[in-house]
Amino acid sequence: MNEIIPLHTDTASQEPYKEGACKLHPQTMCPAFGALRVLARLEGAQPAMVTDTGCLYGLTFVSHFYAARKSIVAPELGTAELSSGMIQEAANAAIIEAASEPNVSVIPVISLCVAETAGLAEELLPTEIDGKPVVLVRVPAYAIHSHPEAKDLALAAVMRRFVDRTSPPEPNTLLLIGEVFPADPLMIDGVLRKMGGRVLATIPGRSVDELRMAGRASAVAALHPFYRDTVSLLRERGVGVVSGAPIGADGSAAWLRAVGTALDLDEDVVEQVAEEEEQTARDVLAHKPLQGSTILVSGYEGNEMLYARLLVEGGARVPYVSTSIGQSMLTAADEAWLRSHGTEAIVYRKAIEDDLAAMEHWAFDLVIGTTTLAAHAKERGIPAVYYTNMLSVRPLFLAGGMIASIAFAQDLMNRKPIYNRMLEFFQ
Ligand code: SF4
Repeated sequence: MNEIIPLHTDTASQEPYKEGACKLHPQTMCPAFGALRVLARLEGAQPAMVTDTGCLYGLTFVSHFYAARKSIVAPELGTAELSSGMIQEAANAAIIEAASEPNVSVIPVISLCVAETAGLAEELLPTEIDGKPVVLVRVPAYAIHSHPEAKDLALAAVMRRFVDRTSPPEPNTLLLIGEVFPADPLMIDGVLRKMGGRVLATIPGRSVDELRMAGRASAVAALHPFYRDTVSLLRERGVGVVSGAPIGADGSAAWLRAVGTALDLDEDVVEQVAEEEEQTARDVLAHKPLQGSTILVSGYEGNEMLYARLLVEGGARVPYVSTSIGQSMLTAADEAWLRSHGTEAIVYRKAIEDDLAAMEHWAFDLVIGTTTLAAHAKERGIPAVYYTNMLSVRPLFLAGGMIASIAFAQDLMNRKPIYNRMLEFFQ
């Protein structure tokens, strides 16, 4: 319960490239998108969203842009309806409508900023309808700041309802938390089986059954550092927590040893597997494939520090990393590792102004960033790529993920002549 302690760094505001950056506005799509994505992906779930029509329009648009593949049921709430005190009735009507959709087995009710402000009362909502569970997910997006953190909130809300509280833990099983590339859990499972353990489930995923099963894991690993509520919930149930992720040569071996301890596996076997994994990674890194390059890493996803670690291990200098999520105990290990390996600035709750100022401050050979930042870099002839679309579709963990990510960065920097040609053309 008590180890997730928000940290504060006063040093951040003293860093010279951060003058004037506004921290109040997240500069991302509405954070509630993260919650909607997690809930819409659940098979059999029909989200009912309680919000005003403006939010509904934007969130429906972005959900379909990211292939939600189902409609969002919502009452029509404008200023008149909200101020007339009809929000409860409107929410109940939306729940009835959601329940009548075909093949629905669960109804998450997503209460957004305006419904939260107007005071949607949980005790006046049904807990189930026609035998289908109704789960209230409170998402005051204005106070959440980033869509990764809204994912955590949504996951914790449905976990609270569905997690299996009665069955005993299954020995030697690990629950993975993080929306990761599909091959990553398979690779992790393969290595864990050599140690005598296995992956029980990876959440958030597509199945409510996985949420139930999650409660039966012997230990949990938060692969992404923003699942604070979900981790706390499992910790309350006595599940051991492994923080960090199997990232790069240093990180993978340490992570495997930590998992071995959490699952109480044979120490000698764990050590042998950890050393093998580390050696495979070190062989790849031996010639420092990214030596001499300076790379900027910036994103909205919340796992930016993991990529930065890989690039540093590959020989790159990564002086600046920024992310939309807030600082916490789950980010502490990656931050400490990066700072001890030459990263000068790590910006949480970033703004585009931070990233642009960083580009003035250092000379980069590659920019892995948001669309706006990548466009800005390209205008300067710097190879650049949009973080979300390009990195989230590649493996990341263990030696295999490391090789894929480093090769991708190398390939991007090899394209420098093309960027120069583009610059000459437009000049
Ligand atoms: S009012 Fe809240 S829910 Fe609506 S778009 Fe803005 S942040 Fe998102």
